Amino acid sequence: MTVIWTTEAVVVRVVRYGERDAILTLLTETGLVTAMARGGARSTGRLSAAARLCAQGTYVLYQGRGMGDVRQAEIARLRRAVHEDVVKAAYAAYLCDLASRTVPERPDAPPAAYRQFVSVLDGLEADRVPADVLARAFELKVCAWLGVAPDWRRCIRCGAEFAQAGGELRYDPREGGLICGECVSAVASDVTRAWPVPRKIAAVLHLLTYADIAKLHRVDLSGGMRDSLSRILAHQLREFAGVGGRARQVLDDIVASLPDAPDDHRGDLHT
Ligand SMILES: [Zn+2]
Repeated sequence: MTVIWTTEAVVVRVVRYGERDAILTLLTETGLVTAMARGGARSTGRLSAAARLCAQGTYVLYQGRGMGDVRQAEIARLRRAVHEDVVKAAYAAYLCDLASRTVPERPDAPPAAYRQFVSVLDGLEADRVPADVLARAFELKVCAWLGVAPDWRRCIRCGAEFAQAGGELRYDPREGGLICGECVSAVASDVTRAWPVPRKIAAVLHLLTYADIAKLHRVDLSGGMRDSLSRILAHQLREFAGVGGRARQVLDDIVASLPDAPDDHRGDLHT
């Protein structure tokens, strides 16, 4: 039995198949689906635009047994601005890879996955929010979906809310969460093992976990804060969810090799 169905989708992975064809991984509102785009690997092919990473539109799929075929596609967003900028392209490639590895197949995606991912790509294009902050916001959502996100507002050891506890704050790379100053000083080895982080990071991690990415604007975080967020989330995803390691390293190497690294902004996070 074969069915023809139509879905809104974003291309999150493209694998060339032979000379002409491409196997696409599409992120839809209900999850990932894999489909063959015949002729998609040819620049002159009818489906060439539909077979580009980050392309977004309406896909008509012909589904028999096994992998479906893309019959037709009406592309609403090609996202040229993302492809034409080396930093944006690097972030987009990383985020597509992350989505393709972490969002479940249809129909099991978390309800917000598609919309939040589209908002990340929109954000990259619009330049409203720094690319690294958009990436961190999406990584935090992935952590939550995969069940590797603690309540960032509380010490993972004693449960104290950081707003009430004084003193320093650290990230414990072994337990994957923030610990309060009292818990740090209670265990001598933590002083050297746990990473010192800015005190406001608890609030920022919590906010970015729950923020609607489409509504983020005027994000202005210090360079130190952004470095800490980057290091914590790379570790959290790699160690506790087993994703992102190599792709994240590639992204970090590309960004570090560029002359204009992000400026050291001071200020607060507004949503
Ligand atoms: Zn504690």
